[in-house]
Amino acid sequence: MNAVAGLLRVDPNPQPVEEARREEILAAPGFGLHFTDHMVLIEWTPGRGWHDGRVQPYGSLSLDPATAVLHYAQEIFEGMKAYRHGDGSVWTFRPEFNAARFQRSSWRMALPQLPTDVFVEAVDALVRTDAAWVPGGAETSLYVRPFMYASEVFLGVRPAEHATFCVIASPAGPYFPGDLKPVSIWLSQDYTRAARGGTGAAKCGGNYAASLIAQQQATDHGCAQVAFLDAVERRYVEELGGMNLFLVRTDGSIVTPELGDSVLDGVTRDSLISLLGDLGHKVEERRVEVAEWREGVAAGEVSEVFACGTAAVVTPVGVLKWDGGQADSAAPHGGAAGPVTSAVRAALVDVQYGRAADDRGWLHRVR
Ligand SMILES: *Cc1c(COP(=O)(O)O)cnc(C)c1O
Repeated sequence: MNAVAGLLRVDPNPQPVEEARREEILAAPGFGLHFTDHMVLIEWTPGRGWHDGRVQPYGSLSLDPATAVLHYAQEIFEGMKAYRHGDGSVWTFRPEFNAARFQRSSWRMALPQLPTDVFVEAVDALVRTDAAWVPGGAETSLYVRPFMYASEVFLGVRPAEHATFCVIASPAGPYFPGDLKPVSIWLSQDYTRAARGGTGAAKCGGNYAASLIAQQQATDHGCAQVAFLDAVERRYVEELGGMNLFLVRTDGSIVTPELGDSVLDGVTRDSLISLLGDLGHKVEERRVEVAEWREGVAAGEVSEVFACGTAAVVTPVGVLKWDGGQADSAAPHGGAAGPVTSAVRAALVDVQYGRAADDRGWLHRVR
């Protein structure tokens, strides 16, 4: 960390949230509703590189109406969590993975590269400063949101020459309240999320903006999430708007859509592939036809489907609905999570919360 020591000056919040109010929030944090006392900001310009790094009081950003991000959406983000272990210590999970992905997203969106050690130190600095905001309840965490945006005041179309990196944090309870209830999914046949050569593998706000109309249709059909097909043939299932997918076959083998231009490389996805191997499952990464899911459930060949991501961890999928039919992979389990979904979820959260050995060195101690 020596290269980045001194990069971030600390400007403490003179008016932090009162302890009683903070405890009230931590007892029932919800998701993405409340924010900690501080945030990290670091500026970049071509002439000065990364500079003016600081931990400062959480608060509004003041933007000129001509700030580039507001017009051309040159923006990327990350999502990670800090976990409190039983002994009170605080840890993040594979932060270097997020840092590397952030660099790939930057590259795709023509934003500057933030070095891995700076990314990790910025997250550590915020979590350390606001450690009192890391909840200790079961399945709670401090959700950390690093992001970067084009902050140059300029309406011309070219990569911005001023970028701002920011980290904020929000205490989090379960993303889908109610434990491990299977979510229903709407199969979007009208809209796609990502095209070959597009931005699907970058974690950028624009992908989410493009997915919201399909998400709205999902809601209109009584579904919690939307599944997207490939943009070329509309034949292969790729992922949800913000989560990767796994299909568990009755023979115990597992398949997940392979990475490419249009599938986001999830930390959770990558970790689950390893953990499923430990549990004795063979995981195939390849293109997955939506027919394998739809007809597989009907034929009894697919016994479980689950989605995964940092925010929602591992979420069982129940009904897949489309225009003209539905298939329910939770029905064989009485509408609950199936055994593989439950086992791999437990294996992951046990490592994250320090209840199982961290054989792969995934945990990073913050304090
Ligand atoms: C963030 C994200 C995921 C999940 O990635 P994790 O690293 O596991 O949180 C999956 N799909 C999309 C589109 C995402 O933005």
